[in-house]
Amino acid sequence: MTGLAWPLSCAAVAAAVCARWNWWRPLAQGLPVLMYHKVGEPPPGSKLKKLSVGAEEFRWQMDYLLRHGYTPLLFSEMHEILEGRSPAPAKPALVTFDDGYANNAEIAFPILREIGVKANIFLVHDTLGKHNVWHDPETEAWIRMMTLDQVRELQASGLIGFGSHTMTHRSLAQIPLEEARWEMCESKKRLEEKLGHEVMFFAYPYGAGACVPEVREAARAAGYRYDFAIRQGMAPWPWKPDLGPIPRLFIRRDDNRFDFHLNMTRGKARF
Ligand SMILES: [Zn+2]
Repeated sequence: MTGLAWPLSCAAVAAAVCARWNWWRPLAQGLPVLMYHKVGEPPPGSKLKKLSVGAEEFRWQMDYLLRHGYTPLLFSEMHEILEGRSPAPAKPALVTFDDGYANNAEIAFPILREIGVKANIFLVHDTLGKHNVWHDPETEAWIRMMTLDQVRELQASGLIGFGSHTMTHRSLAQIPLEEARWEMCESKKRLEEKLGHEVMFFAYPYGAGACVPEVREAARAAGYRYDFAIRQGMAPWPWKPDLGPIPRLFIRRDDNRFDFHLNMTRGKARF
């Protein structure tokens, strides 16, 4: 190696590390809202592998929350805090799962119960006990969704809260507003009948509609007090509706532990 090649290659490595990760960003303030989908191995032929976080990584990530002093909240606890009826913990966090896959109950829940971490699941009402039928099975295999019995078992544990993710998982930005209203109102009503309590938390499928004022207004009009986007970032804390839909930290299968740490401290891991 010539005299210049070594410093140049160091500079190249440093530039690559800066370009790939956000470690140089200032620490982000706010509420970390982790967003998961599936836990376990991706279904065969999956084109959405990044949505299946491995069980051992998931365990490490949940343990990270406890080791770093976070208090993972149930939706109902977040509501009580924001209504001023409960004190806020020093470091609140929110663990969320979209869609309601059976692996949430069968793989994630035993881990959460074992280490004592609370989490929340956004359910797609019409897929309870069925499959992820909104996916084209040619590109994304159908897998089992949670059954109502599983929902009830998780609810009875006191460790899992629930919100709505519509009736059928359609993109609310691409259907008539009346149908979007129905997706939101009907799922709220039907889930409330099944869960026996008010459903105040809502996540937009694909994050779609979160930035469409009429759709967001319809979510508020349906009675949801908290709406969640897929936009990446730390949520403002304390959150109020006029701050916009709640951003989340997208936890991906191919994240390494440094990525996870950056998500928790900078609000994003990579570009
Ligand atoms: Zn979804």
